[in-house]
Amino acid sequence: MENPCQAEPAGIYVHIPFCVWKCPYCDFYSITDMSLKEAFLGALLDEMQIGKETGFFQKTRFSYDTLYIGGGTPSVLDAEQISRIIEAACRSFQILSDAEITIEVNPGTVTPEQLRGYRHAGVNRINIGVQSFQDANLKFLGRIHSAQNAHLAIRQARDAGFENLGLDLIYGIPGQSEKSWLADLHRAVAYRPEHLSCYMLTFESGTQMDDDRKKGRFCPADEALTARLFETTISFLEDHGYAQYEISNFARSVSKRSRHNQKYWTDAPYRGLGPSAHSFAEARRCWNFRSVKKYVETLSTGKLPIEEKETLTREQRILETIYTGLRKTYGIDIDKFNKKFSTNFEEILGERIMPLEEKGLIQRSQNRCFLSRRGMLFFDSIVSILVQECKN
Ligand code: SF4
Repeated sequence: MENPCQAEPAGIYVHIPFCVWKCPYCDFYSITDMSLKEAFLGALLDEMQIGKETGFFQKTRFSYDTLYIGGGTPSVLDAEQISRIIEAACRSFQILSDAEITIEVNPGTVTPEQLRGYRHAGVNRINIGVQSFQDANLKFLGRIHSAQNAHLAIRQARDAGFENLGLDLIYGIPGQSEKSWLADLHRAVAYRPEHLSCYMLTFESGTQMDDDRKKGRFCPADEALTARLFETTISFLEDHGYAQYEISNFARSVSKRSRHNQKYWTDAPYRGLGPSAHSFAEARRCWNFRSVKKYVETLSTGKLPIEEKETLTREQRILETIYTGLRKTYGIDIDKFNKKFSTNFEEILGERIMPLEEKGLIQRSQNRCFLSRRGMLFFDSIVSILVQECKN
């Protein structure tokens, strides 16, 4: 099918708000009450039906080249339920025939039949939340699965026909040494996944783990060690054929990068469906109610479950472009930036960038401005320095 629309293809994100168990470090919205699953599914299909021609996606008729089923834990849904979601999305939206259709799965919740069913339903990319191949780490993270489950899920996904497979790993776990992290990386690359996401463990406020940290129930990993693990990750993965393209993301080739996630870092439009999901298009943003109950109730009255909408100011858009641009190894495209905001990057940011350049944290080459490997470690502080300049 040809893309009949002029506009750049958009992405669809579907949030499945259920988890078997709440991991103590996680701040994504999810509930463990599975009794709401069917009501949620019905509401989700209603949201697609009602939302297809409404909201700020109405003016430009978008086509979609990605459908990302995330969460929460999408793999608490069986293949028939995932198939219903994909079919309904295809009925309501112009989804291109070569769309990337991803599902996130938790190794503790999948069976070979289920994985075959997902593939059959049209899912062509699978992302497995392995986090670690070591039981002690999984226990600390409060995961429901074992290292054995992780190995099995990867093999079963390959057997089910998934040729585009991504693994998520976490480092910076208390007690983890460089040797132990390298052992996890070795195990991961042995499966030749097309994609790897390596996240540094962070303590988000409001999570159980952050609370435990504040109460001194464990000692967080040493900052210098975590910084070394970040650099080790990049070097190790480069040596094994993976190129970093975003702070935490690596792919075996450009075509195996997450097409969907790149939309978040390139200002591309995306539509979020399900509780707490965000949508963005043409400087406008809106987000759904977080509560599954409120989400279901609102849709049952024929209304979209939108909690709030906002139109970004020019200043907010500049800040977002800096924030998302610097996450990518490519960095900010200076020409595009100047054109988009009718401004001069050098004039508004040059003075702030220079000292960071001298410290080797930021680099400029021709048309790009990007963080060095060391600069990525200080992403938050660098962004706040640059953003401060824009606000002044
Ligand atoms: S399974 Fe994933 S989404 Fe659910 S609580 Fe754990 S980390 Fe969060």
